[in-house]
Amino acid sequence: MKLKKYYVEGYGCALNISETEKISGFLESQKFEQADDFKEADIVVINTCAVKAVTEQRMLSRISFLFENKRSGAKLFVFGCLSAARSAPIKKISEKMTVLDTNLESLCRALKIRPKKFSPEMKSVKTREMISIIPIATGCVGGCSYCITKIARGELHSYSEKEIEVAFKKATAESKEIWITSQDLGCYGVDSSSSLPKLLKRLLKNEGDYFVRLGMMNPNHFKKIHKQLMPLFENRRLYKFLHLPVQSGSDQILKAMGRKYSGKDFLDCLKIARASQPNITISTDVIVGFPGEAKADFEKTLALLGKAKPDVVNISRFGKRPGTKAAIMKNQLSESEKKERSRKISSFCKNLFLEKNKKLVGKKFDALVSEKAGNGFFTARTDCYRPVLVKSCFGKFARVRITKAYPNFFEGEIVSCQK
Ligand code: SF4
Repeated sequence: MKLKKYYVEGYGCALNISETEKISGFLESQKFEQADDFKEADIVVINTCAVKAVTEQRMLSRISFLFENKRSGAKLFVFGCLSAARSAPIKKISEKMTVLDTNLESLCRALKIRPKKFSPEMKSVKTREMISIIPIATGCVGGCSYCITKIARGELHSYSEKEIEVAFKKATAESKEIWITSQDLGCYGVDSSSSLPKLLKRLLKNEGDYFVRLGMMNPNHFKKIHKQLMPLFENRRLYKFLHLPVQSGSDQILKAMGRKYSGKDFLDCLKIARASQPNITISTDVIVGFPGEAKADFEKTLALLGKAKPDVVNISRFGKRPGTKAAIMKNQLSESEKKERSRKISSFCKNLFLEKNKKLVGKKFDALVSEKAGNGFFTARTDCYRPVLVKSCFGKFARVRITKAYPNFFEGEIVSCQK
């Protein structure tokens, strides 16, 4: 009997990508076969992201393209955060496609298959050869006034330590790098009797050659768990990497954003992390142009970054997301003002990063060559998760020497490569 063919594509954060991989795994468990091209598929699933206005436009044009060019008789299912939080603009494209949400059960019902929930240990069809992504929770306990993800994914639901460990054991057998992800790792387990440090301690007991990368956690939660969390970074399998989104350096703006920490709290988090791990890589996020952000508030963000000296800054221009409190706030800034501020912060960060990165030229690090970077290059990740472009040793642990520094990455050479 000829198996029906499926095609799944996904966008957005690591959590969304992990669910995209699990939708493929689920469909294969239902005897569907993967199609190389969506034009050959009987069912096409797009797992959408809703985080920014520009992302929404990109999603809508991709959905239109898939709908107009899919094989006649094939079905298109629109899944994920955009369908959950913004179904109206999707339905405007055509009533003939199925608009779902972020729950696997809704896809099951639409396919007339017995409903099944997402769970960490369910089969994944990996999108990155050396990397397994493990979701440990969905939703969050935050109420950030600009965030549409909250509308799409709602309240926190932590998966159990047991089901996560089953997924982890599988991941250590089939991958070298494991991403632990959710919308806010820091609040993992507040809805159950667990916590991120408790879970990590259990997972890192698993033998094997692998690196674990932690996803994003909010500073207010890091402050509650750092005493138990930071000692775990002594384990060589845990990348010395922390992603703590700060969003603004102005306490007044942080309050309007609904963030539950101050600029000083954020700096305290970095002091604590660096006291325990002096070379730890700090990644953060900043939103410029939030409603009411006066020039002085913006200057405070620059000043905070100057003090914090992070290694990675993801810069976003504020964009109104329908249904959020911030979308109807007064004192919205002009697009040109937002553009000017993100330009300023981006060049400030570039100089900061290059000065820091130049100091690593000539140094050697343990690393894992975990990703393909194109043009014959691979990305090696040092034990502090710094990206180094190398020419060989893909999928292996290696010793690399940094030969050249750029603001956001390095070039390097392989000194030795695992047999
Ligand atoms: S913590 Fe805030 S920004 Fe993050 S998903 Fe929750 S509401 Fe959105």
